[in-house]
Amino acid sequence: MTLSTIGFKDAWQAYRDCEMRLPSKPTPVEPIVVDGVVDAVARLGARAVVLDGFGVLNNGTAALPGAAEAVAQLRRLGIPIRVLTNDASALPAEIAARHRGRGVEIDDDEVVSGLSLLTSRLDKRPGGWLVVATQVVIPELAALGLSLWDGSPAQLDAAGGFVMLESDDWDDERQDRLESSLRCNPRALIVTNPDIAAPWSDLPPGRLAADPGWYSHRLADAVGIDPVFLGKPFLPVYQRVLETLPGIAPADVLAVGDSPHTDILGGRNAGLRTLLLGTGLLSGRDLDAYARACGILPDLIAPTIGKP
Ligand SMILES: [Mg+2]
Repeated sequence: MTLSTIGFKDAWQAYRDCEMRLPSKPTPVEPIVVDGVVDAVARLGARAVVLDGFGVLNNGTAALPGAAEAVAQLRRLGIPIRVLTNDASALPAEIAARHRGRGVEIDDDEVVSGLSLLTSRLDKRPGGWLVVATQVVIPELAALGLSLWDGSPAQLDAAGGFVMLESDDWDDERQDRLESSLRCNPRALIVTNPDIAAPWSDLPPGRLAADPGWYSHRLADAVGIDPVFLGKPFLPVYQRVLETLPGIAPADVLAVGDSPHTDILGGRNAGLRTLLLGTGLLSGRDLDAYARACGILPDLIAPTIGKP
């Protein structure tokens, strides 16, 4: 796997530039600084917590300090936990297993992602759906009739629509080939990970992994297609999470994330309370200043998820 990367400045600018395709911005609030997720739950009287993955529980392949302890403490308090991730590189049960492998106790059925919504969006169409930008074969998706792009322009031109799960094996050359094909014949593009960038511990300082949002918004700008985004910050994936928390009102759920345009915008748009952490996208930066600059303010701010 060759990870494509972008710098923070480009990633932030790309988030600002794609705001017209995202949910409307929430009404301003005055963020309160707290110590971490357990403190946030106590202050709000929250009855459930929806945690982001990258930038909250893990930073690439490593767990973030304090994540395992925070999850354990929430469990001791009897707070239901869900992990709402834009990571669509594997099915939810596999994502949960990865968290457990890093020492963070997450159950298989506690993970929800854009991939959870994909089946309902696939129709039968001439040419079928072609998965681009990943070499990962998910058996359950092959059973749905999805095929993987072999790199040939002919296969792109023959496809009825495209699915971008992840961008782990994507680069500008392949992006150009897909753009050319779409320019000649615009077709549907489903994107299960709307993120533009994600923190990754193995990258040089200041570099972020370029996610499918980075590529799909560029395609939308270049050829005028309107991608279907299935993850955060869009509402359907929040509705899916809330369905798994029966009897708990959205306003009693705390959403925790590291990205204003993903976790905070999505959480507030769905009626959840929100906590912005400084351990991911905005690591080492002034959280309050960035939230104000883009006009997407969280209810609460904390430097980390909690003490290790
Ligand atoms: Mg994140």
